[in-house]
Amino acid sequence: MTVRPNRPQVVIVGAGVAGYQAARTLSRTVGDGAEIVLVNPTGVALHPQLLPQVMMGVLSPDRVSVPLAETLPGVRVVLGTVTHIDAHARRVLYDGGVLGYDRLIVAAGGVSEVAQVSAVSAHSVGFHNVGQALHLRDHIRRQLSLAAASTDPFERAAHCTFVVLGAGYAGTAAASAGQSLSQSIACRDPRLRGQPIRWILADPAEWLLPDMRHRLSRTTARMLRSRGVEVRTQTSLGQITSRGLRLTDGEFIPTRTIVWTFGVRPDPLVTNLGLAAEQGRIRVDEYLAAPGHPEIHACGDVAAVPDLTRPGKITPMSGQHALRQGRLAGGNVAASIGYGSRRPYQHRIHDSIVDLVRTSDQLLRVA
Ligand SMILES: Cc1cc2nc3c(=O)[nH]c(=O)nc-3n(C[C@H](O)[C@H](O)[C@H](O)COP(=O)(O)OP(=O)(O)OC[C@H]3O[C@@H](n4cnc5c(N)ncnc54)[C@H](O)[C@@H]3O)c2cc1C
Repeated sequence: MTVRPNRPQVVIVGAGVAGYQAARTLSRTVGDGAEIVLVNPTGVALHPQLLPQVMMGVLSPDRVSVPLAETLPGVRVVLGTVTHIDAHARRVLYDGGVLGYDRLIVAAGGVSEVAQVSAVSAHSVGFHNVGQALHLRDHIRRQLSLAAASTDPFERAAHCTFVVLGAGYAGTAAASAGQSLSQSIACRDPRLRGQPIRWILADPAEWLLPDMRHRLSRTTARMLRSRGVEVRTQTSLGQITSRGLRLTDGEFIPTRTIVWTFGVRPDPLVTNLGLAAEQGRIRVDEYLAAPGHPEIHACGDVAAVPDLTRPGKITPMSGQHALRQGRLAGGNVAASIGYGSRRPYQHRIHDSIVDLVRTSDQLLRVA
C-alpha cells in the first residue's frame, strides 16, 4: 500500500470502551487519509462489565478483551502509558518516547482514588481490571480457607466478612458476584456449615448506582438484599484498623477484605493538561472538543460532556455513554480533517442493564 505523504497524525490515548470505538470509527471513515496512533498500556481493549464473570470463573480473561492490532486494521498500536500531554507543543509523552499530533483524542477513562488513600490501599483490593478480578477471586477463596481452618469464632467471622465500598457499577457488580462465589465455595466445605458469610455494600449516596434511574437502584437493592447482601446507603468509611473497619454509622466490622471502588476519578494526567476541568474530567463542548483547543477531543469517563437531554448536567460515567461518545469523537475528528461533518453528542439512556451474575433471572433491565 502507498502511504499518502503529509497525512495528519491523530493520537488516541486509551483503548478502553471509548478509545477503541474512536479508533475504529476513525479508521473506517478516513482510510489511509490519516495516520492513526492508539496508545494503551496493553494490547487489548477490556469489557469491564464482564469482570464479574471473570471473578466467578465463568469467562476466562481472554474472553473479556479484544486484541487491538488484529481488530483495528490501519491503526498503529503503541504499547505504553501516557505520562504527560503538552497541549501547546502538541506532543504526547509516554513511557516509551514522544508522539506529535495534529489531532488528539483523550479516552483514558477513570482511575480509582484508592491510590491516593494510603491507609486504604494497604488493606484493600480494587475491581477495575482483569488482574484485580482474579486477585479478588483468589482472595475470597483464601479467606474462606483460613476461616475453615480456624477455631477462633472472631477470626472465622472476620475471614467470612467482605466489605465493598462504593456502590457504582463496579462495587455493585463486585458485591453481587462475590456473594455468589463465596456462597458456592462455602456450600462445598463442611467445615463452614452454619458459618454466616457476610457481604456489606456501602455508599455515601442515597441510592445504589447513584447516576442511574432510581427504579434500577431500588430493584437492584431489593435483589441484593434478598440474597443476603447488606446494602447500606448514606454510609461511608470511618476508620480502618488492622482488624477491620468502622463505618460512619458507628458499626465496627471485623473483616480482612475491603473492596474499594469509591471515587472513580479521571486519570491524573488530566490535571496537568492545562485544560478546563469539571468534577476532575476534561470539559468538552457538545461536539466533544475542548474549548479553545479544537484539535483536542475527549470522550468516555475522562470527559465532562454536556448532557443535552438533561440541561445543566454532564453525562454520567457509563459504558453506554463511553461507547457512543467514542464513536462520535472518531467521526468528529474525521470531519475536522475533511471527512464528513461533525455532530453534537445527544443520547438519552432509556434503559440500563446491571448483571447481578448469579442466575440469568438476575440480569436486570430497567426501562
Ligand atoms: C466491574 C465494572 C462493571 C461495570 N459495569 C457496567 C455496566 O453494567 N454498564 C455500564 O454502562 N457501565 C459499566 N461499567 C462502567 C464502564 O465500564 C465505564 O464507564 C467505561 O468502561 C468507560 O469507558 P472509557 O473508555 O472511558 O474508560 P475505560 O474503559 O476505563 O478505558 C480507559 C483505557 O485507557 C487506558 N489508559 C488509562 N490511562 C492511560 C494512560 N495514561 N496512557 C494510556 N492509556 C491509558 C486504560 O488502560 C484503558 O484501556 C462498569 C465498570 C466496571 C469496572
